[in-house]
Amino acid sequence: MRAVVTGGAGFLGSHLCDRLLAEGWEVLAVDNFITGSAENVRHLAQNAKFKLKNEDVSKTDALKVDGEVGYVLHFASPASPPDYLKHPIATMMVGSIGTQNALELALRKNAKFFMASTSECYGDPEMSPQKEEYWGHVNSVGPRAVYDEAKRFSEAMTMAYYRHYGVDTRIVRIFNTYGPRMRLNDGRALPNFVFQALSGQALTIYGDGKQTRSFCYVDDLIDGIYKLMLSDEHMPVNIGNSREITILEFAERIREHFDNVPLIIFEPLPQDDPKRRCPDISKAKRILKWEPKINLEEGLKRTLAYFKQEFSRQRSA
Ligand code: NAD
Ligand code: UDP
Repeated sequence: MRAVVTGGAGFLGSHLCDRLLAEGWEVLAVDNFITGSAENVRHLAQNAKFKLKNEDVSKTDALKVDGEVGYVLHFASPASPPDYLKHPIATMMVGSIGTQNALELALRKNAKFFMASTSECYGDPEMSPQKEEYWGHVNSVGPRAVYDEAKRFSEAMTMAYYRHYGVDTRIVRIFNTYGPRMRLNDGRALPNFVFQALSGQALTIYGDGKQTRSFCYVDDLIDGIYKLMLSDEHMPVNIGNSREITILEFAERIREHFDNVPLIIFEPLPQDDPKRRCPDISKAKRILKWEPKINLEEGLKRTLAYFKQEFSRQRSA
């Protein structure tokens, strides 16, 4: 019952560490803090079952872990588009060499392996909702490719270790997830809108705002991930919330929680920005008996409470 979580000081990784510890696991989180922060796991500092190691998992000799390991969960990677565009090579390295290092650790320790993949594997999809069988529509030389193709490589590498070496692997395709511990300045839609609303600035909509996303609250996502960890499924599984919403409506839903926020402003749409994204979660419902429970209104309430506190803390610091 000892798990290694790469990216354990990030948004999702830190919530995953909390869940694993609550389920009785010992956890070693490995992170180089490129987009995460030790603050996200500070509340675990006194927990004897938790350790945090500062390491870049993409280095050639990384992930040399002593002792027994039962599960390796590979969550390290910049995930926000502005983050991965700022760190394009590091993103490709952690999705290639980093993934292989994590798989090698699982192989050496005879541990199970869990790959945090993404809906970005579907690219700018030509069908919606996206089923796991859909192969995707990715521009391999566009700016987003550093993330999309690294994750597609990670999936292929995971399946190669499963088929060639018999490593017991799982792959989750995570759709847009939000909640406490996202960075206020990580550049994704929700933190941007909340930061803008808190600082009295207009909310920035890229393009006409008619593109869609489907936002999942973090607790629901982690619950789906834990169920997938315990399942026997080796092929990818979508985990996300299938309630699809336009970005314009999403911005309005956030704006209505604040007084006196200036009107929305429109800015250019980034290249290859997917027009639609919505998970088909029938596979997760069928094999994991999982579906999200927290609706957007409730999830936003919880997230805004965190961001308001974080905003005041950062202002006073
Ligand atoms: P995040 O940026 O908050 O967390 C990523 C963590 O990985 C950070 O703590 C970062 O410092 C760490 N990291 C990155 N490169 C590393 C390296 N070379 N060595 C060690 N640590 C490294 O992002 P997140 O939203 O928590 O995403 C976590 C994982 O989930 C990522 O793999 C991401 O691709 C995947 N994912 C997230 C979402 C989402 O909506 N949040 C959607 C799809 C997929
Ligand atoms: N977006 C926006 N304004 C912002 C940030 C993002 O309109 O300030 C749009 C972005 O172009 C995309 C959607 O919101 O269409 C979701 O973006 P995000 O970066 O959160 O995640 P993505 O799903 O693109 O990885």
